[in-house]
Amino acid sequence: MSLAASAHAIWEAALGRLQVQVPRPTYETWLKDTQGESRDDNQLVVRVPSAFVAEWLQTRMFSLITDAVHAVSGQITQVELIVRDGVPAIDPIQNNDLLESAAKYSDISARTQNPSESTFNPRYTFDTFVIGPSNNLAFYSAFAVSDSPGNTYNPLYIHGSVGLGKTHLLHALGAKAKAEGLRVRYVTSEQFTNEFTKAIRDREMDAFHDRYRSVQLLLIDDVQFLAGKDGTQSAFFHTFNELHSKNCQIVVAADRPCANLVPFNDRLKSRLEWGLSVEITEPDYETKVAILEKHALRASTPIPASVLEYIASAGSTGVRQLEGSLNKVMALSQFSGEPVSQAIAARILRTQYEDRARTPEDTISKVANFYGISPRELKGVARNKTVSHARQVAMLLLRQGGMRAEEIGLHFGKRDRTTVSYAIQRVLDKSSQDPSLQKSIESLNNGEN
Ligand code: ADP
Ligand code: MG
Repeated sequence: MSLAASAHAIWEAALGRLQVQVPRPTYETWLKDTQGESRDDNQLVVRVPSAFVAEWLQTRMFSLITDAVHAVSGQITQVELIVRDGVPAIDPIQNNDLLESAAKYSDISARTQNPSESTFNPRYTFDTFVIGPSNNLAFYSAFAVSDSPGNTYNPLYIHGSVGLGKTHLLHALGAKAKAEGLRVRYVTSEQFTNEFTKAIRDREMDAFHDRYRSVQLLLIDDVQFLAGKDGTQSAFFHTFNELHSKNCQIVVAADRPCANLVPFNDRLKSRLEWGLSVEITEPDYETKVAILEKHALRASTPIPASVLEYIASAGSTGVRQLEGSLNKVMALSQFSGEPVSQAIAARILRTQYEDRARTPEDTISKVANFYGISPRELKGVARNKTVSHARQVAMLLLRQGGMRAEEIGLHFGKRDRTTVSYAIQRVLDKSSQDPSLQKSIESLNNGEN
């Protein structure tokens, strides 16, 4: 990767990795609204939305974050989290402070459990939601509910598989109702479960009930995760009854239709079926392009329409995947200094959707074969031109497959990561001047050999 890669690009690429490494709710809650702020040779500064988020990331995910940044930058070993420019979010936390900080965390979360305090992702609004045949029913129902909560469809049940915009709609609805003065609470079913469990443990059931029964709009996301949790389901059942009887609005999102929730309390299921159930399905091609266009507006450089169309047609299913592909295409283009092109998109989509099972040894022997040398020579120390070149290509392919530089080094006679990063940069430089090398790399990557 070039030294010039910006903090923004590095962090976007690191987020791309983290997105596939951590559970989705974790990513959504803690990582999504963070930004690469600045960098030097070995440190990346990342801006996070609050000290609370900083603390959470620092205590629970810090090594994962540092690893991801190191893997994509090939160089940076330290990450600092800030809330505002230049202000460290918190003092660096030592491992033996973990317990103390966990206690602090539960304090803070207790404070944010005030019903009026649900905050919404400012990017998830009705305005930024692209409407198409796959989601218009869900969109209009959510909009209608936000206009007249409690009086239209109660509950509103939105279902569809992951990454299709359910959480986006819930946030849009919640934020609009809150802006209009309603007491709104948004929780994932995991949060609901945790709060319920904690209330039992700490004998704070009254506070739990107050918190939930004093709201006018309750949004519960990913309700399928309540499956099998009888006690929590029953708490939700009672909350539901109370809110519903007062004409307070309930909105639920799940990855499947209500009938398919198992094991699930039948009484609760029948309540969830009282109102309106709407499905979001996979967007058609035109909607995908429109979503990508909207996303591309946030990019610093214009993205050719042909690239957006290529990504839209390349077989991703969810909207999240589409956006992830576009982010990665932009990041790779910045790293390599090549303009955003269909070739880059092809490279990214391939590593994303195909050939996940390929082992490093497969890649090594394929490259060796391609250049007419033996895998042993490729992994050895010989420095003649062909062998060195083939080795650089093999390293690049492994890197594009997501392997870290250190790890790649281990496959090539324990070379260190600086050597590996240098080799990869060399071959990227060469390939930017040499279309036939670009083709070879692509065809090796495609599994065409
Ligand atoms: P879900 O909750 O269904 O898994 P999300 O609401 O988290 O999915 O959506 C995943 C990503 O896709 C989010 O960044 C969201 O903004 C985006 N997205 C989904 N559908 C649309 C849409 N119709 N228009 C614009 N962005 C969308
Ligand atoms: Mg969601």
